[in-house]
Amino acid sequence: MKTLVLGPGGREHAIVQALRADPLVSEVRCAPGNAGIAKEVPVYPIDVSSPQLVVELCQELQPDLIVVGPEALLAAGVTNALQAAGFAVFGPTHQAARLESSKAFAKEIMHAAGVPTGQAHTATNLEQLEAALDEFGEPYVVKDDGLAAGKGVIVTHDRNEAIAHGQAIFAGGDPVLIEEFLDGPEVSVFVIADGKDGVAMSPAQDFKRIYNDDEGPNTGGMGAYTPLDWLPENFTEDVMEQVARPVLAEMAKRGTPFTGVLYCGLAVTKKGIQVIEFNARFGDPETQPVLARLKTPLGQLLKAAADGKLATTFPTIQFHDNAAIGVVMASEGYPDTPKTGVQITGVADAAKHENVSVLHAGTTTGDTGEFTASGGRLLTVVATGDDLVEARDTAYAAVEKISIPNAQYRTDIAAKAINGEITIPGA
Ligand code: AMP
Repeated sequence: MKTLVLGPGGREHAIVQALRADPLVSEVRCAPGNAGIAKEVPVYPIDVSSPQLVVELCQELQPDLIVVGPEALLAAGVTNALQAAGFAVFGPTHQAARLESSKAFAKEIMHAAGVPTGQAHTATNLEQLEAALDEFGEPYVVKDDGLAAGKGVIVTHDRNEAIAHGQAIFAGGDPVLIEEFLDGPEVSVFVIADGKDGVAMSPAQDFKRIYNDDEGPNTGGMGAYTPLDWLPENFTEDVMEQVARPVLAEMAKRGTPFTGVLYCGLAVTKKGIQVIEFNARFGDPETQPVLARLKTPLGQLLKAAADGKLATTFPTIQFHDNAAIGVVMASEGYPDTPKTGVQITGVADAAKHENVSVLHAGTTTGDTGEFTASGGRLLTVVATGDDLVEARDTAYAAVEKISIPNAQYRTDIAAKAINGEITIPGA
């Protein structure tokens, strides 16, 4: 099976590595990829948000399976264009990807499908915004209704800050979503969907704020770990039954079947599982540790989903009985003003450990062959171990070997889980 992965980040690097580990995958290529991916497979530096350019590349390469990474490509209709040209694609059409690109649409689907989620109001002016804030009370949750790469959300006790955030969103031309605050630990579950049915991957937890103890602004994600031993029994089956299957059925019923990753962003509250959001693709950075534990061959799994044959081929997804953690290293100034151009050293040294993989995102290689920072999130250092303690120690030992001037990374990834400090309200 010849495969092509679309996207530039750490998530795509993890997908590339997992595809290479599938014995039935003969070829892995990536567009545009990044400096780290380019060391492992052929890369094609095209503008992947252009459906036409992607189709032209695929006509040249003739892949048997195309895996779409980033949300922006889905929203741009890359899947639609590739399907129209006759290719097998793992990734939803832009109609189905509205589960991510419009939070208001996601709420509508959840209501129609009877899926548990917090109450929300959409506001298009200040008066509506203030009324919704007062109805829900503190802490205030204010979101951009459009795609904002995880950075369009504010959760605050400060009413003025909530209003200012809402007004900034109005100024950008989008409606504002005001939500009930969902109290409880967050969990990400990737459901691999084939348009009719789905099968869940091992749950993971990610760390969205830039600083330890969940301080500072939201980012694209600063680290993640899996599995989550603190979850209630049968959690994954409950997610399938209460959330994923009803949503997939509703999407199919509307004539917009969902094929790809239905990423369920959940809060485990005293009322049970509540959906915070859906994404229409693998999450970054959760993908990096989740795929590090995957036993089921990824290429065959995603091809079965793209072909609508999941139920007969992969009724479950197998994982190794170990643990994995990913620590993101980001530039100075990330997420607001990431500093680029600085040198990154020690990557090869960090990756020497057999259980460590250093996945690239915002890096380039200069003339000297050294890596240079070219974005906000630069690397995800992923380690596996027999348990979370071992995985965590190995990951941070590898992080210490990498030198990036004034790099930012969290030192508390998976710490609360290891220390037994995660509690489900009311449990
Ligand atoms: P989103 O872009 O909707 O995933 O929101 C980003 C982050 O904001 C989530 O991962 C949560 O940490 C937080 N968040 C969003 N909505 C809520 C909510 N209704 N209650 C509590 N936290 C939320």
